Amino acid sequence: MQKGNLIIISSPSGGGKGTLIREIMPSLPDLGYSISHTTRKPRFGEEHGREYYFVSREQFDESIAKGRFLEYAEVHGNMYGTSREQIEDITSSGRDAILEIDVQGALAVMEKVPTAVSIFILPPSFEVLRARLTARNTEDANDLATRLRNSFTEVQNYSRFDYVIVNEEVPVASRNLASVICGERQRRDRQMARIESIIESFAGANHSTIAI
Ligand code: 5GP
Repeated sequence: MQKGNLIIISSPSGGGKGTLIREIMPSLPDLGYSISHTTRKPRFGEEHGREYYFVSREQFDESIAKGRFLEYAEVHGNMYGTSREQIEDITSSGRDAILEIDVQGALAVMEKVPTAVSIFILPPSFEVLRARLTARNTEDANDLATRLRNSFTEVQNYSRFDYVIVNEEVPVASRNLASVICGERQRRDRQMARIESIIESFAGANHSTIAI
């Protein structure tokens, strides 16, 4: 079976990547969401094993030492890491793995896995980002300021990504995101196992049975 793709989706905090991923997951088959590990405390409504695996700093450090992370980074003061095992489980079953990670993590995965598809979600302006992050109301004033300050350098990295999707209207941006993922699945080099068996069926067919 052909392995699934690694799809990296990144944006500044509040850029809307989580919303877009939630929009496309139900309608796109064969996608698997990589659930990261984090030392951040759960927000109201978040569940261990659904949004994240919430772990202690000691547990996180042990996973680093055991080489369990494909990448990990400190983001806005907390640690976040992507599990190698989960990615392997998803992609070896033929599904595409969605990695919703920050820009540093995205760049690290691009280095390690050059075939990964990288997508940057760009808010339509700084003011819109600020308004969305403020309206989300999930961070205290300090954390909100950190996230907004970090966004200045994060957006500068757009040029390292294969695709940039401007998230102005969710229905449009989510359609564009789904198109990129579907488009990548049609690349010749990503379907060689299937294509070769189709081509073989032509080579093995008995040409003399074809009526003129
Ligand atoms: P939040 O605390 O808002 O859930 O996430 C903060 C940032 O960390 C977001 O940009 C999110 O995409 C990123 N993030 C989540 N999981 C990972 C991960 O496994 N690795 C890295 N590098 N960043 C992550």
